[in-house]
Amino acid sequence: MPEGRSVLVTGADRGIGRAIAAAFVAAGDRVVGTYRTGRPEDVPEGALAVQADVTDTTSVDAAFTRAEEAHGPVEVLVANAGVTRDALLLRATDDDFAAVLDTNLGGAHRCARRAAKGMVRLKRGRIVFIGSVVGLYGSPGQTSYAASKAALVGMARALTRELGGRGITANVVAPGYIHTAMTDALSESQQEVYQKAIPAGRFGEVDEIAGVVAFLASDAAGYISGAVVPVDGGLGMGH
Ligand code: NDP
Repeated sequence: MPEGRSVLVTGADRGIGRAIAAAFVAAGDRVVGTYRTGRPEDVPEGALAVQADVTDTTSVDAAFTRAEEAHGPVEVLVANAGVTRDALLLRATDDDFAAVLDTNLGGAHRCARRAAKGMVRLKRGRIVFIGSVVGLYGSPGQTSYAASKAALVGMARALTRELGGRGITANVVAPGYIHTAMTDALSESQQEVYQKAIPAGRFGEVDEIAGVVAFLASDAAGYISGAVVPVDGGLGMGH
């Protein structure tokens, strides 16, 4: 087997996930980047593009099987795929709530469960969930999204207690407002309001998230687990 680790990043065809997958490729790892409705060619060069829908257990299983065939058991999972369906509480629907929870939380759970099978056998593994500042800081109109992201913290901590003795770490990276399609969708006035609240005075860049994820997956971070690492320009004050 060539150098590097077997890495799987979900939602790797754009935004934060794409930058994370590219960082692992640049580090010499063997990377599977998943996409759902997008185009495989948008997954970074050097990564194997595999279609997967994280709300579908069979699809997640197939993506991991493909990764295992190509690169060996997944040693690093980055559960990045996520959606928002924002609405003020009184206008929120059951369908939107269920969809957000099923993708952001259910998807991360499906991927972690599938990844853990191989990691337990290997007696090592790194699981990184992409949370959000909103999960701990709150945000009006984002009850479903905030709940889904806050829950990742509990999940990472439960996993840490369950699998920590097997050489597996589980952490949450909590980005603040990062320049991506998700934040481009905010109106200019919303963007201004948010920027004023951020001590750094600016939105972050996708590479600033990728660097922290790469660190948490590195040997240097082997004793960090159950942690929430904010990357938010100070917005959450470390939570
Ligand atoms: P994007 O909307 O740019 O990309 C999201 C990715 O997730 C896409 O590849 C998308 O695929 C994929 N995805 C969505 N639903 C599913 C699904 N059911 N199965 C598989 N893949 C799916 O998001 P960002 O890059 O902005 O965000 C990435 C992560 O970071 C998310 O978890 C987000 O919540 C989090 N985050 C982002 C912040 C930001 O400021 N951008 C701030 C804090 C957290 P498709 O194209 O098919 O929809």
